[in-house]
Amino acid sequence: MHFDTLALQATHQHDPTTGAVVPPIHLSTTFERNEANELPGNYLYARPNNPNREALERSLATLEGGATGIAFSSGQAAIMTLFQALRPGDHVVLAHDGFYGTTSLLEDVFHPWGLTYTRVDMTNIDAVRSSIHENTRIVWVETPSNPTLAIVDLLTIARIAHDGGALCVCDNTWATPALQRPLDLNCDIVMHSTTKYLSGHSDVIGGALIFKRNDTFTQRIRQLQSVSGAVPSPFDCWLVMRGIKTLGVRVRAQTITAQAVAEFLDGHPMIERVNYPGLANHPDRQLIKQQMNGPGAMLSIQVTGGAEEALTVLGRLRLFRRATSLGGVESLIEHRASVEGPLSTTPPNLLRISIGLEHAEDLIGDLAQALTPGR
Ligand SMILES: *Cc1c(COP(=O)(O)O)cnc(C)c1O
Repeated sequence: MHFDTLALQATHQHDPTTGAVVPPIHLSTTFERNEANELPGNYLYARPNNPNREALERSLATLEGGATGIAFSSGQAAIMTLFQALRPGDHVVLAHDGFYGTTSLLEDVFHPWGLTYTRVDMTNIDAVRSSIHENTRIVWVETPSNPTLAIVDLLTIARIAHDGGALCVCDNTWATPALQRPLDLNCDIVMHSTTKYLSGHSDVIGGALIFKRNDTFTQRIRQLQSVSGAVPSPFDCWLVMRGIKTLGVRVRAQTITAQAVAEFLDGHPMIERVNYPGLANHPDRQLIKQQMNGPGAMLSIQVTGGAEEALTVLGRLRLFRRATSLGGVESLIEHRASVEGPLSTTPPNLLRISIGLEHAEDLIGDLAQALTPGR
């Protein structure tokens, strides 16, 4: 089945009482027992489980080809719960240029709690191999990476992680299952900020973990979800389900526009560098073809000069919204170094761009006027 069809199939729920094609939102926090003290729907209380969350978790597992999915109230809550399933003394390997929030969780929350971690260049296989120790439990991969769009070889990193007795976890937020399925490439767990492409309209905060196997580690995380309670609301689950229905078509349209924008920017005299997996001169072209169905709609540019020049260009834009986050229908642009903290490795002249559903010519026109010197 093609992804577009799968997305519709995976989110369809027939309501047997009304025949409604769109599932109802179950706001009830509790579920009534019958005379024999049984729970007819197997739901007890909405923190451990509720119909909308269960439906979302099933859809996510289907889309990623996993055994089960577990949904959370944010991407950060999903990452946090995964690290909580480890023990003090355990070690995590992650990219030196990955999403800043993951690094911040490890440094500010889990380091004091006893987890250790090493940041490496995930494109350097030998560096990854030598950073794995006896106590390494997780190798955390993000590809394309945020915000430099480094491409990591998932099959190889998963093999190295397994050789070292660790799990390979892939943050698939940027690629989405429409473009990349890490579990098919031997990763063990996929993480999503459903806030981004899956919901797709900048109106939900949510996260999820999808597991290749339903083993004791998975069950531990299921238990933590229930007892810790960082769970998404029924309405948020419903919104993410609705977003998934158009994921394929959104990403396809946004990718076509991103390709046109990246080609316009590549070689522009005011631009030192364009980071986009769809450029013909990309050094990882072969790998991108191998593990992705398309280059996606995220890119970053490095403006000639420094932070000041980058901020000047940013200030002149009229169509792009100057805001953090990504994956929505409106194009967003952000000076990433401004929002990251002391462990940031982001170049000061970098602007991160999330391409939305505006027409490519209008977006290119806006960038062209913002990049005109001495305007
Ligand atoms: C946004 C984001 C997260 C964090 O998710 P929240 O929903 O903001 O908590 C994690 N990883 C990546 C790649 C992201 O873009």
